[in-house]
Amino acid sequence: MSSVGRSGCLTDLPKPFNNEIFKTPMIMAYTRGGAIPHLTFNTMQKMADQKIFLLQTLPTVVEFKDAVKEQNKGLNAFVGLPEYPFHMSVQDPGTITPTGFNVNKGVSVWCEGGKKKLTPGEFMEIIKSYRPISYQALCDSDTPLNCSKKRLNKSVDNSLRFLDSCLKDHEECSELGDVAIFGTIQGGYDSFLRKKSAEATASRAVDGFVIDGFHVNGPDVENVDIPKMKELLNEIFQFLPADKPRILHGAFEPELMLEAIKCGIDIFDSSYAYKLSETGEASIFPLCKIPEYFLNEISSSTAKRTKCSSALTLKDDLYKADFNPILEKCDCYTCKNYTRAYIHHLLVTSELLAQILLMIHNLHHLLNFFKCVQNVLDNQSGI
Ligand SMILES: [Zn+2]
Repeated sequence: MSSVGRSGCLTDLPKPFNNEIFKTPMIMAYTRGGAIPHLTFNTMQKMADQKIFLLQTLPTVVEFKDAVKEQNKGLNAFVGLPEYPFHMSVQDPGTITPTGFNVNKGVSVWCEGGKKKLTPGEFMEIIKSYRPISYQALCDSDTPLNCSKKRLNKSVDNSLRFLDSCLKDHEECSELGDVAIFGTIQGGYDSFLRKKSAEATASRAVDGFVIDGFHVNGPDVENVDIPKMKELLNEIFQFLPADKPRILHGAFEPELMLEAIKCGIDIFDSSYAYKLSETGEASIFPLCKIPEYFLNEISSSTAKRTKCSSALTLKDDLYKADFNPILEKCDCYTCKNYTRAYIHHLLVTSELLAQILLMIHNLHHLLNFFKCVQNVLDNQSGI
């Protein structure tokens, strides 16, 4: 098993994205209600130099289902973003998922209007009308830290049963012929159950894997036991075919994403950029340090969770008269046009523009972070 991470690419996407190639490791742009939080189509256009693959999160778009079905053009046309491919996740990595509501027959997702219970059949009807490029089959990831072994066991069994049901529908539906379906590996922090789930999921006709159940989304990502998670990832990846992509959801800090990349994770989501922007923070993770993480085993294995070492809290008075951009060498729209002092002012006066400018920078910086990671891995494999 490689401990330096792996590079690859997503190809053969369905039309109209069939000529597009997305290199991995990569980040999917996290969305809420169909759009990247705080970014309009026009502001997304300002990031035209970046290739964007969206993550649509079912709880934040499930309420559109009747309208999307009626319009019959798919979710990305409904939300006005037809030129961006998207993957659909069952839960919302940016918000904590209330626990204790999944049953043997289906999964609860939480939207503005409250709880919506979905059976695999109802879930697949949504997938058919939303038309994603790829999607996570319905799964039961309700395994908060320290939940019982019985709950973990149930989440493994439920997820496999839901996957089989989704696969049956998927195979029978000609419109989903070129859409990719991802199976979810559960088992919390239990090594035996993780292996059982990995082996059983890998034996199904899935196109990729989501590794879920280490946290229940939103701020719960802070509770992840990183050393144990890495150990388990290394164990379960032995059971997964090397040519299929692996997704890990959650607002992980850049250092922790690097740790997961080294274990062999290929795809993340940008809920970290959302989390930072909501709290008035700006990412300044030094991209020049990325090669060290891959070359220096010691520094990476001792990497600690030093909170905010890689982000500025711009509301601090410290930035009141700081006329520098967020990041000197950043070429995003925010850094080219605005100062830390101005964003500080927007934050203290609660102007919504603050979150827009922060989101542009934080997402741009995270996309660049993955470009750097790809370059480092490409160079290493070329040696
Ligand atoms: Zn910037």
